Amino acid sequence: MKRLIYSIFSILLLFGCSDSKQVYTRQVLSFGTQIDVTLFGVKPSKADEAIQEIETQLDVMHSQWHAWQKSTLTDLNDKLRKGEPFEVNPTLLPLILQSQQLYTQSNGLFNPAIGKLIELWGFYKDNPEDNQSIPSKEDIDSLLKSNPNMMDIRISGTELTGFNQDLQIDFGGYAKGFGVDRLVELLKAQGINNALINAGGDIRGIGFVGDRPWRIAIQHPIKDKTLGWIELEDDESIFTSGDYRRKYSVDGKQYHHIIDPRTGYPSEHAHSVTVIHPSGAIADAAATALMVAKPSEWFDIARRIGLNHLLVVDKDGQLYSDQLFAERIVLIDHSQIINNLGSL
Ligand code: AMP
Ligand code: MG
Repeated sequence: MKRLIYSIFSILLLFGCSDSKQVYTRQVLSFGTQIDVTLFGVKPSKADEAIQEIETQLDVMHSQWHAWQKSTLTDLNDKLRKGEPFEVNPTLLPLILQSQQLYTQSNGLFNPAIGKLIELWGFYKDNPEDNQSIPSKEDIDSLLKSNPNMMDIRISGTELTGFNQDLQIDFGGYAKGFGVDRLVELLKAQGINNALINAGGDIRGIGFVGDRPWRIAIQHPIKDKTLGWIELEDDESIFTSGDYRRKYSVDGKQYHHIIDPRTGYPSEHAHSVTVIHPSGAIADAAATALMVAKPSEWFDIARRIGLNHLLVVDKDGQLYSDQLFAERIVLIDHSQIINNLGSL
């Protein structure tokens, strides 16, 4: 897993060290990134046990959800393309059901069925920055025409059938959030209720660090510094999608990994989107969908998904947020202005 550097900088975790004796932090590599697990008020022996379980769970998720290395998901994609009914692996059914719902709520902008497009753009590798060319318009148009989408999967109980030969499910925009939720459940089941999981800048926090909230810094997508910080309430996820993560440039133009299913090209309305929601899975999918959305669609889609915190850095570097995010964020650069779009 070589691709971890980019994400370490995306959001930095800030917390003071006065309680450092009781703060236990461990790094695990998974999902192509570094995952920091911070536990508060847990004995080291119990913390070690919890981390071991987390590592095991992460290995399982990797073997289930990887988009281009052989996994339960690549097996599923093979079967979907055949167009014959088959019994779905039970570990994947909840992801498919929820991502169909998120597909609908996002008006099709969150569409994990466009794996072929993502592969065509050269993102099925650990180091996409080495890419030297972009796909042909012809190949892109062909996938736009066949329009693979989540509704091309019919579900009857535990039986699935694919209705599009170009279906290729890619949970890259969502599995990290789903996985973080699973890890939080695992911690809670062990009686650990004060913890923070930071998966390369995508974060879910439960409880507090002593008598203080978890404090999270948000990376500026174009300036190499922190944009601002917020304090998490008990059990919140804060996820950021950005065009500064997986990307490459050809002839001086940059191409990033979030693809607009309507155009077949990398999205172009925002540099980054940060959202807050109790569920990591929903926050993850929402941030990806809102990267694709046009400004006129931001609030509609955020509402349909059930968000009430949204922050966008648009293509011109302007900041936009809803009322609640504007109230909670503390900007580092006080001359920076947030365009407050009102209540979500
Ligand atoms: P994230 O960093 O959560 O926004 O996820 C980005 C990843 O989601 C990409 O690397 C792709 O694997 C996948 N992806 C790209 N575009 C889309 C899209 N429109 N809908 C769903 N997943 C996408
Ligand atoms: Mg996402």
